[in-house]
Amino acid sequence: MSKLPNVTTSIFTVMSKMAAEYNAINLSQGFPNFPVDERLTQIISRLATENVHQYTPMSGYPPLITKITGLVKSSYQRETLETEILVTAGATQAIFTTLLALLQPNDEVIILDPSYDCYEAPILLSNAKPVRVSLNDDYTPNWNTIANAFSDKTKMIIINNPHNPTGKILNKSDFENLEALLEKHPNVLLLSDEVYEYITFEQKHISTHTRKKLFDRCITISSFGKSFHVTGWKIGYLVAPEHLMKEIKKVHQFLVFSVNSICQVAVSEYLDLVAVEEISPFYQQKRDYFRALLKNSRFELMPCEGTYFQVASYSNISDKSDVDFCKQLIKDHGVAAIPISTFYADGKDLKLIRFCFAKDDFTLEEAAKRLCAV
Ligand code: PMP
Ligand code: GLN
Repeated sequence: MSKLPNVTTSIFTVMSKMAAEYNAINLSQGFPNFPVDERLTQIISRLATENVHQYTPMSGYPPLITKITGLVKSSYQRETLETEILVTAGATQAIFTTLLALLQPNDEVIILDPSYDCYEAPILLSNAKPVRVSLNDDYTPNWNTIANAFSDKTKMIIINNPHNPTGKILNKSDFENLEALLEKHPNVLLLSDEVYEYITFEQKHISTHTRKKLFDRCITISSFGKSFHVTGWKIGYLVAPEHLMKEIKKVHQFLVFSVNSICQVAVSEYLDLVAVEEISPFYQQKRDYFRALLKNSRFELMPCEGTYFQVASYSNISDKSDVDFCKQLIKDHGVAAIPISTFYADGKDLKLIRFCFAKDDFTLEEAAKRLCAV
């Protein structure tokens, strides 16, 4: 009997595979196609010949942990203890480990739809229950609906900010509402997936790292893969208070024990050179360029406040389902995108698709040329 009977191959794998099959431009799965910062590739090449190839301590390479406390301090003015940091094999492992460590059978976890795909499986494997609550049509949270979804079994709420796939960012009043709600539920935990924390545009990102009231119950998750354009390195970290970290580490040590050493050392050195505040302007320029290139297309572009994803409506073009439309886009026009219905538990189809604009200008131009012909 399957432990995850309803889980199928991730849409990111499906669309990337199909893009390769049809030699289409792949704007589906979220990963950059431009060269990684030379300073980082030089570090990793040099490290290949150095003595950095054995296990690091379980929580992470100590100098990297120190640098992460510095990064959290410089980005958010939050003082963290080194014991509150865990280096993970990407945000995915951080999320999986956290959920497996902290959930008990029959616990309920609130997830806001549309939502990224990696939360549900570890909830189900813990014999806990995902409770999916839809965001408003403009992707703002409806705090009344969310409050109504709480029960005496609620153990956790997951937020993803900036939000994949919609690019939406939570504002100050969202945090005030969240804090007021959690005050009424003192035992409920918060998992904050902030992998796009350094990719935000007109509206500034508010991190849980700046919300003192939440510290004691919050697990905040970051991804160096996203921030430093190295998604394949699968390296990230989580920050959690010690009483939760104690449990999280129990699972982490048997899931991976420690994260690959050479990338930890490389990221640790790179953190001395990189300016994270340069990441947002870099992607803002890409967002603006891609949107300008699509101005004369028949796609209607939704607002994009953060992340490297642009959501577009094709309702002027076709009434096919979004999955079929994406398949047709690959086959007939040579561009791959992600159908937004796959981010909803009930498969709600709003005729929206997601393009990844973390691409070099040539790729964006060629993709836009093809999309303008649709
Ligand atoms: N959360 C969100 C919202 C994502 O988009 C992704 C995809 N990168 C992840 C988590 C997983 O990140 P990582 O590649 O570091 O595992
Ligand atoms: N986070 C990436 C995206 O949203 C996908 C990563 C993956 O394929 N698991 O496109």
